[in-house]
Amino acid sequence: MKYAEHIADLVGDTPLVKLNSVTEGIGATVLAKVEYMNPGGSVKDRIALKMVEAAEESGELQPGGVIVEPTSGNTGVGLALVAQRRGYTCVFVCPDKVSEDKRNVLRAYGAEVVVCPTSVAPDHPDSYYSVSDRLVRDTPKAWKPDQYSNQNGPLSHYETTGPEIWRDTDGRITHFVTGAGTGGTISGAGRYLREVSADRPSGRVRVVAADPEGSVYSGGSGRPYLVEGVGEDFWPGAYDPSQVDDVVAVSDGDSFAMTRRLAREEGLLVGGSCGMAVEAALRVARDLPDDAVVVVLLPDSGRGYLSKIFNDDWMASYGFMHTEGERTVGDLLR
Ligand code: PMP
Repeated sequence: MKYAEHIADLVGDTPLVKLNSVTEGIGATVLAKVEYMNPGGSVKDRIALKMVEAAEESGELQPGGVIVEPTSGNTGVGLALVAQRRGYTCVFVCPDKVSEDKRNVLRAYGAEVVVCPTSVAPDHPDSYYSVSDRLVRDTPKAWKPDQYSNQNGPLSHYETTGPEIWRDTDGRITHFVTGAGTGGTISGAGRYLREVSADRPSGRVRVVAADPEGSVYSGGSGRPYLVEGVGEDFWPGAYDPSQVDDVVAVSDGDSFAMTRRLAREEGLLVGGSCGMAVEAALRVARDLPDDAVVVVLLPDSGRGYLSKIFNDDWMASYGFMHTEGERTVGDLLR
């Protein structure tokens, strides 16, 4: 019989799939790494598993422990999966811009969810960073993974995501494009891919960060944007800028238009940070020769955004229905 002992044992080993329609006019091969195939539905399952295993080993997380984390949802799902298996309780702190759908998913897994305002500074007592710090202080046996500084986050990508991409492209990848939230994905997978390709005759893999306009990674002030899970208003410890060769800033409008095209044209119902990453990847690929191989990582599924990006009224309320010259997203969907 072929079966897994537990759903949490199925983290990683996600597939690469070629993009065929949105790549029109581009000679290079563009491959998407589909992270919604992870059991919790996002790339964050990888860091959740690694952070919990490391905390058990170091003794920071003890039997009956409580995992407290500020998370936009995906890390919470990964932690909840791993916690269920090992008998921990989870309390998650979310900013209020995170969709109600995502918060309900966390509650469905049995986690407690605390919602905080997005519009306050990180050091404000009501910010989701401050609230989670207070909860950790006041809860017995609490452990905060702190995905923003925990080096086991990037390490999980160094050990799994990077090697999978190298293996599945037969070492032919030329560019790796991904968004950066904590920076774990780009720093860990980026480091692996740059190291493993360092002595290759065709040169080292170039690592490109896709970033929402306004985020500090692309030189912004940290002003708000609507794409979830990526960009920052501070520099997290999990982000290693020395692994990043280029940064491409993408607007909310362009990110969401591409997100909708991926569902409509590629059969990939994915989140807004995926549309952002693909938009950046295509801008990179446009200038590359036919033998280039661009891998773009798609962090999560579109199911958590049905009432936002995939809702015409929500899109129109932000003025996002006009894309591609004369055509509107509404026209594309007709
Ligand atoms: N997209 C989404 C939807 C996410 O939840 C995250 C994680 N915050 C990312 C992208 C970015 O991944 P990382 O934290 O590894 O930079």
